[in-house]
Amino acid sequence: MSIRVLPEQLIHQIAAGEVIERPASVLKELIENSLDAGAKRIEVDIEEGGVRLCRVRDDGSGIERGELALALSRHATSKIVTIDDLERVGTLGFRGEALPSIASVSRIQLISRTPDSPMGYKVGADNGRVSELEPAAHPVGTTVEVRDLFFNVPARRKFLRTERTETGHILRMVERLALSRFETAFVLRAGRRVLGDYPAAAARHEQERRVAQIVGDEFIANALYLEHESAGCKLRGWLCQPTFARAQPDLQHFYLNGRMLRDRLVASAIRLGYRDVIFHGRHPAFVLFMGIDPRQVDVNAHPAKLEVRFRDGRHVHDFLFRSVERVMRDTFAGTTLRDRP
Ligand code: ADP
Ligand code: MG
Repeated sequence: MSIRVLPEQLIHQIAAGEVIERPASVLKELIENSLDAGAKRIEVDIEEGGVRLCRVRDDGSGIERGELALALSRHATSKIVTIDDLERVGTLGFRGEALPSIASVSRIQLISRTPDSPMGYKVGADNGRVSELEPAAHPVGTTVEVRDLFFNVPARRKFLRTERTETGHILRMVERLALSRFETAFVLRAGRRVLGDYPAAAARHEQERRVAQIVGDEFIANALYLEHESAGCKLRGWLCQPTFARAQPDLQHFYLNGRMLRDRLVASAIRLGYRDVIFHGRHPAFVLFMGIDPRQVDVNAHPAKLEVRFRDGRHVHDFLFRSVERVMRDTFAGTTLRDRP
């Protein structure tokens, strides 16, 4: 075989495989873009488990007319300009990969309007080929429609599960994102069926209602509220009481600077904070939000960005561990905890 340069479309499809696994991953990327655009309301519509249609409509900043087609091109992002920006990236996206990747494995349409434009514009891409820009009626904000996911990648399509399973993945994804931003309202519909409806939640009791909707009434009824700040790290959220500890680590929601994480260092630090109050082999449940200077963390470690690299992992670990331990100690002082200095 001779060495050949791959066609552009194929390169995009290969890259898409890295981040776009199923309809839920499409929605994750689209909703994160809406959040990055400052949306206060996000409406998600799906058909046939998202395979036939994934649509996200937001009331965010919109995309300039001249940039609509660019948003579908590879490595086009408005979020970073220099390599130094990577150090302090505060947005969920920054690679400029999601839209072109999705475009290469679906039929996509973008309709958007910025606040200073009297009307909206739309642009589409089919099989990676971008269409002409056209005017379109739209309120300020953006609608992205993704149809027929993987229609041109049969090998990928084969891996999709039943409508029910894919819808389940989507619901869990939307729930995780809804937990990350209380101030934004979310609605998820499958056809005419409303699967999730989360009004904007400013006050703590409203936030607790959203947590109850997503994590369960049981959890919030058995939760301890935590708010702690020390040496550049902030933490707030809800920890389950030790009696609510679970057989599986299945109710663990951790957000760093608004980004959902599945991080081993974080999980083990929180466990350690519970070590004297829960039985061996049981797992804590929690919904926690941590804030830290973005320069203290490298989110560039993995394309799906579920894991991060902390500049000072030890510091973060100790902060988390001590915050949790303190809540347990204050709540159960003198009963279950051994005294420690
Ligand atoms: P990234 O999010 O990594 O920048 P994407 O491919 O997801 O890359 O999006 C490309 C660009 O399109 C973004 O940088 C942003 O400027 C614009 N964009 C995408 N979705 C939206 C949206 N819902 N609202 C406003 N701008 C958007
Ligand atoms: Mg993005």
